[in-house]
Amino acid sequence: MSLLRARTAVSPLRRFDAESVPHASCATPALPRIDDLIAVERPEEPMHALRPAVIAAASASFEQGFPGKTLYAVKCNPEPAVLRAVWAGGVRHFDCASAGEVALVRSMFPAAHIHFMHPVKARGAIRAAWAQHGVRDFVLDTAEELGKILAETGADDRGLVVRLALPKGRAVYDLSGKFGAVPEDAVALLRAARPHAARLGVSFHVGSQCLDPLAWREALALAGRVIRAAGVAIDIVDVGGGFPVAYADTTPLPLGAFFAEIEAGFEALALPGAVLWAEPGRALVAAGGSVIIQVQQRRGDALYVNDGIYGALSDAGRPGFAFPVRLIRPEGAAAEALHGFSLFGPTCDSADHMAGPFLLPEDVREGDWIELGQLGAYGGCLRTAFNGFDRAKLVEVRDAPQLAGA
Ligand SMILES: *Cc1c(COP(=O)(O)O)cnc(C)c1O
Repeated sequence: MSLLRARTAVSPLRRFDAESVPHASCATPALPRIDDLIAVERPEEPMHALRPAVIAAASASFEQGFPGKTLYAVKCNPEPAVLRAVWAGGVRHFDCASAGEVALVRSMFPAAHIHFMHPVKARGAIRAAWAQHGVRDFVLDTAEELGKILAETGADDRGLVVRLALPKGRAVYDLSGKFGAVPEDAVALLRAARPHAARLGVSFHVGSQCLDPLAWREALALAGRVIRAAGVAIDIVDVGGGFPVAYADTTPLPLGAFFAEIEAGFEALALPGAVLWAEPGRALVAAGGSVIIQVQQRRGDALYVNDGIYGALSDAGRPGFAFPVRLIRPEGAAAEALHGFSLFGPTCDSADHMAGPFLLPEDVREGDWIELGQLGAYGGCLRTAFNGFDRAKLVEVRDAPQLAGA
């Protein structure tokens, strides 16, 4: 998500051989614990720790709590082990944005419902999604895109969703400027799409990590005005993603507060027969992943570490997400007093800096490891190969979530 991102191919995360780690014999094979792995492996490359049980639980709780269909936004973390955990949590719908995501989800889950939710798609991607991968729902925000979709898909069971532009919002990641039709255009698009759609919907996306439930209420009211002006029947109202999670400096309201606001806003629209969809990414997977990095040098309050903004820590650079941190020092205890540190990533770019401050024991030193939590979302998928720092390990662990402030 950083504008400074280098566009280079990244080698896939290498799986880690957990068998080399001794753990107590037990009847059911258990996943290892992070601290045991670190003590044995002493990794000098970033280690991505996935907590499949945490992802499955968060997915199940969203899926059961949201008053409609839950579509996992695959871009947030497309790692197969993550997709399997989301599926294990009961999610059967996937919001895909590219031919690659569509093919990946279909290869893993023949029964998945895949929705192609990028407003600007390659013709070949639309064609392959429709003909090879059984995708039936497509989003659009222009008449040009509607034309492309009609040309590349069949009339049978085609779903069309018109994405609305929202005014600049309150999300940490404001995404209002790029996609979406303004109300007048959305009205025309809904009328133009209706005769070609077995299902017709409206969608919006309030931006990512949006802390205010009222953002959804206001967006739903806007959707209602557009729907009334269009005067056509609507089958789907897709409220997008953006549901927030906790970071060291942020404790959002529980998801139920967002669901209640959405349900009330939807009911006020009085659309008989219409259903709600949501496209959560971060809320399903953030707590289910962390990244363990190593300190390679300390210079005063600055720690030079082996991962940074060109790796999994993009969001710690700009806009400066406060990921919760924890020191791991297998050979002994660290100081109890905490101190604020900034981090420098391994590349030669001076922008590879994460201001923090990250609160760590004041005696943190070379060789220590640091676990950064809440990185199951927008971490591993943003890595680049810049400067040759493209190696990282992926392990599945049984640890509890590393919650903010823990
Ligand atoms: C990125 C994105 C999502 C997921 O956003 P989160 O903030 O991770 O929930 C959902 N819908 C659209 C259209 C997106 O671009």
